[in-house]
Amino acid sequence: MISRDTKSDLQSKNRTNSANWATENHLNNPLFLDIQDSIDEAARLIQADPNVVARLKRPKRCIAVSVPVRMDDYSVKVFSGYRVQYNSTLGPFKGGIRYHQDVELGEVVALSALMTFKNSVLGLPLGGGKGGITVDPSKLSRTEKQNLTRRYTSELGDFIGPTKDIPAPDVGTDPQTMAWMMDTYSQEHGSFQPGVVTGKPVEIGGSLGRAGATGLGVIYVAERAFEKKGKTLKGSKLVIQGFGNVGSHAALYGFERGAKIIAVSDVQGGIFNGDGINIPELLQYFKDRKTILDFPKSQKVSNEELLMLDCDALMPCALENQITSKNVEQIKAKMIVEGANGPVDNEATKILHKRGVFIVPDIIANGGGVVVSYFEWVQDIMSFFWDEDEINKRLHGIIIKAFDRSYALSQEKNVDLRAAAMGVSVQRLQGAMLLRGLYPR
Ligand code: GLU
Repeated sequence: MISRDTKSDLQSKNRTNSANWATENHLNNPLFLDIQDSIDEAARLIQADPNVVARLKRPKRCIAVSVPVRMDDYSVKVFSGYRVQYNSTLGPFKGGIRYHQDVELGEVVALSALMTFKNSVLGLPLGGGKGGITVDPSKLSRTEKQNLTRRYTSELGDFIGPTKDIPAPDVGTDPQTMAWMMDTYSQEHGSFQPGVVTGKPVEIGGSLGRAGATGLGVIYVAERAFEKKGKTLKGSKLVIQGFGNVGSHAALYGFERGAKIIAVSDVQGGIFNGDGINIPELLQYFKDRKTILDFPKSQKVSNEELLMLDCDALMPCALENQITSKNVEQIKAKMIVEGANGPVDNEATKILHKRGVFIVPDIIANGGGVVVSYFEWVQDIMSFFWDEDEINKRLHGIIIKAFDRSYALSQEKNVDLRAAAMGVSVQRLQGAMLLRGLYPR
């Protein structure tokens, strides 16, 4: 097994699927190389058709756009924007839009691949896509963010649409971003088009439960995972990295169900309290001060130290590449639930699995967001909206089914849950690809 860091050095050296380093650099992103290895592993598990596997290892379409933005000082800055449409075998492309200073095409390719396998393992009638802009949104004013979002949406033009490609929030974007996207698309198409994006505010076609859905999904699968290990979420000690949309909701729903959240962090650093942090109080503190640091009755911990804390479950809910060969030996958590996309690399996954650490992979663990996005899209098409209980009940059903099917395969084949989830996912994609056939022949 090659670590992600070594992989990035290897770049295009003899990777069978990337012929030309100069033009296909984006196919050598370390997370994407890991995903390709996972596809191969899944293919061996289910004895997949090699033609299907070859197609699954490449994105269908990569769109790169320049996004010129009028800044508040009247200057114009040009940002780089992307949308990768990875696979549409099962339905329209679906996946979030990330605003982050480290966004680059290769990362978006990797994240769009994860969306493809996530939507498949969850049984949704959706393909996989992802978008992003290389920008630190905290450095933009509200007007600049709106200008950026509207121009990006306009540049994507007819590549997106309710039956083609449906964006949603991701790191650095939120319901307001989706409101601007929906409005821009609707203005340019001359009709109300709520189904073009999900994760909108409820006032304009958003779904109840969407905001907290990813965090709630993390807690639902954690409950199931504890159950499989003969334990309960209630009374367990959780460590949560990231206090954005996913981490803060996972913390709240975990707290409400009686788990002890002993540490949380955001980009600035973390806080620790061995007796458990009062999450509703922390949320109020965060709302008032825009930081979790110096929260009363807590000690400071760095993000690196937080990952190494002894706990029943560690929930990395921030960015990719957090647990790798560099720190895997120091990990003391008994279970890891991947709230983020790609937080534990393949090499670390295999080492931890051998050590008996149970990892619930991202494509199941953080699937709650896209499941409720799917509900939002359906409700927008019907113009008929469900209550929150209905949504949460349906979310629970879908995410637990994906977990249980993957868990059963992992037991049958004696492999880790990431390999099994990819196996279930590739199996479904393969069935649909073979039925649809290859165009033109
Ligand atoms: N960005 C989220 C994810 O990574 C949600 C995608 C969606 O709702 O389409 O799963």
